[in-house]
Amino acid sequence: MSIAIDVAIIGGGSAGMSLAANLATLDTGQQVRVFEPNTTASRECHWGLWANATQYEKLRPAIKGHWQGWQLVDHRHQLVKQSDNFTYTSLSSSRYLNHCENLLHGSVQLIRAAVDDVEHQADGALLTAAGETFQTAHIFDSRPPRTAAGGLIQHFVGREIRTQQPLPNVGIATLMDFRVDQSRGLHFIYALPFSKHHLLVESTMISRSAQPESWYTDAIDAWLDDRGICMAEQLALEVGCIPMDSVYPQDPRHAAIGAAGGALRRSSGYAFSYIQQQTRQLAERIASGHYEVPQPISQQLLYMDGIFNRVLIEYPELGVSLFMDMAAALSGEQFARFMLGQASLMDWARVISAMPKGPFLRQLLDV
Ligand SMILES: Cc1cc2nc3c(=O)[nH]c(=O)nc-3n(C[C@H](O)[C@H](O)[C@H](O)COP(=O)(O)OP(=O)(O)OC[C@H]3O[C@@H](n4cnc5c(N)ncnc54)[C@H](O)[C@@H]3O)c2cc1C
Repeated sequence: MSIAIDVAIIGGGSAGMSLAANLATLDTGQQVRVFEPNTTASRECHWGLWANATQYEKLRPAIKGHWQGWQLVDHRHQLVKQSDNFTYTSLSSSRYLNHCENLLHGSVQLIRAAVDDVEHQADGALLTAAGETFQTAHIFDSRPPRTAAGGLIQHFVGREIRTQQPLPNVGIATLMDFRVDQSRGLHFIYALPFSKHHLLVESTMISRSAQPESWYTDAIDAWLDDRGICMAEQLALEVGCIPMDSVYPQDPRHAAIGAAGGALRRSSGYAFSYIQQQTRQLAERIASGHYEVPQPISQQLLYMDGIFNRVLIEYPELGVSLFMDMAAALSGEQFARFMLGQASLMDWARVISAMPKGPFLRQLLDV
């Protein structure tokens, strides 16, 4: 006997749980099941975004830290940005997922199991999970995407630590500090001071291949050493790899959401805000009987990000200056808008005029 449902969500990560929580809040009456085999604690990591006041309130239960200022640094410049409307905010992923889970009720339920098999039929699909069969009319698949081999990736290792000494400036998040070894690819340190003695510090690289884990931890230790910061205790280690090239859904027959469904910004690896937008709009559509997945990143933005990444690949020596020049051209407000995919035409004009014309024109003619 199969269990009849209206909507099956495969994967209860950022996109799957956000969609389920939105559907529960809208009380659509539809039978929704989200399938996720892992616990939230086993997937703990940090999700950063620029949050406005409304988002900040909504995300409050999951917020681990927030900074009015953020900076990009190289050997020549320290660019500190601030905005009245956006704060750089870091979420605990497990707290965010638990918060979503707490919003589920009635006809929207989480099933703590992997989807083992999907059999497509003329009017929907049969899903097998936890030894049961579910007959569903609609599937939204948020499993991590497949990627093409050799594409650009953002790969990182982070240490979350308690420090012996008090940290100097806890009001500013360091998004990119390029004063590290650049010999193996575009490399920077990302550092979030949560309090005087609590720091997340990540060594991040943008390139086509990853390094052994010790390479990143050595870079972190050297960066801490250069600043006279001693680790009192390591609280957690975070390892990640985010595709910055074309991505493909696990199963092309399913409607994909999240990173696999067009919500991952290729030039930055940021996805959280786009996932929020996509899942909120999709839930509204589902409530009114429409099931097409909205694309939060426009075709134009995809195209521009594609060109930017090709310049990064073809001219690795320009990497640091591309990010620094872009940041220098924008105010904090404009920078946040740009990262959120909300740049105005004037913001774009500022960014384009700050970029080196030759490399971009060559890639423009090539794409
Ligand atoms: C370590 C890390 C840090 C990141 N930091 C940021 C950040 O700071 N800001 C930002 O904007 N973006 C960040 N990203 C990028 C992006 O926001 C995240 O990858 C985000 O989790 C993508 O959401 P998702 O729902 O598409 O995929 P996921 O959150 O990865 O969810 C996919 C889920 O599918 C489940 N699954 C897999 N197979 C099955 C199956 N057979 N059945 C059921 N479930 C299955 C997995 O267990 C997983 O929970 C980060 C990514 C990583 C990896």
